[in-house]
Amino acid sequence: MTKQNKVYDLIVLGAGPAGLTGAIYAARSQMSVLVIEQILSGGQISTTERVENYPGFPQGIEGIELGQLLEQQARRFGTEMALANVEKVHLEQDVKEVITTEGSFYAKTILIATGASPRPLGVPGEEEFRGRGVSYCATCDAAFFTDKEVVVVGGGDSALEEALVLSKVVAKVYLVHRREDFRAISVLQDRVRNNPKIELILNTVVEKINGNQFVESLTLRNTKENNIWDLSAEGIFLYVGLKPNTDCLGNSLISNKHGYLVTDESMETTIPGVFAAGDIREKVLRQVVTAVADGAIAAVSAAKYLDEKAQQPHEKKAG
Ligand code: NAP
Repeated sequence: MTKQNKVYDLIVLGAGPAGLTGAIYAARSQMSVLVIEQILSGGQISTTERVENYPGFPQGIEGIELGQLLEQQARRFGTEMALANVEKVHLEQDVKEVITTEGSFYAKTILIATGASPRPLGVPGEEEFRGRGVSYCATCDAAFFTDKEVVVVGGGDSALEEALVLSKVVAKVYLVHRREDFRAISVLQDRVRNNPKIELILNTVVEKINGNQFVESLTLRNTKENNIWDLSAEGIFLYVGLKPNTDCLGNSLISNKHGYLVTDESMETTIPGVFAAGDIREKVLRQVVTAVADGAIAAVSAAKYLDEKAQQPHEKKAG
């Protein structure tokens, strides 16, 4: 039987920590599970050099390695994997349909764990120079900028963490942030402030990215003095927040004003049998540790949903 001809107990959309943990828990409780992923396991952590705050790894662990280990663990309990792009979903009926580039897949429950992606800054030159000096992933692209000068934009955990990654290979990192204070955790702020290769440019925004074939400079504006100036740099790494990956979901689920899916405590969305976990959810802390917790809760809730569904005909007969 092909994957497309089966009706799985659970289909997981996205093979990041949330989705794969959901798969581990569901498969371990004897549910048939398919994980659909479009690129590679790990989600956002696969673009992170080192995960330092996931318990159990005192020296940290490479993001890519953690993703691979999670996939191995899910497969060990019988999880199947499919490489495909999810184009559309039909979630309302008892047997839910996931339409992908590889055909349709079916399941009684769905776990949406498609995560979030870097948000574009939205300045002139960003699209034009994407991949030609504009990047959203220091771990992936740092090597292209060995011994060159680069700019990182943002003041959150991502910006500071990636500025530190870049500082190991580039000649200099300018960290451009629109305010005086960072929202990143203090340990990252300390490391950045003590790194001789990182120069802070605060109260400053990017107006424009300039170049010919590749990025050559940025036009910056100091928000306090309102003066505009150009800074030479060959690379610009943008970390100005995340946007939830909900494009394939249509309008059937309720999300908050930022687009993150609303769930209850059991991770169930506004459609019965459809759960969400990880960065795509409305939540206060987006970390690997909260993603895996969401995934586990969602899988247990999906199992409970299936049990209750299975009881329903007997209850009706008895009544
Ligand atoms: P974030 O926390 O939302 O920070 C975005 C940063 O970009 C903020 O400093 C923000 O400035 C700035 N920004 C937003 N829009 C801007 C604009 N138009 N122009 C200039 N600057 C702009 O995003 P993130 O750093 O990607 O983190 C996302 C989530 O992942 C967070 O929950 C974070 O804790 C988590 N995360 C955790 C780790 C870790 O634990 N190791 C690593 C990475 C990310 P303002 O501060 O002025 O708003």
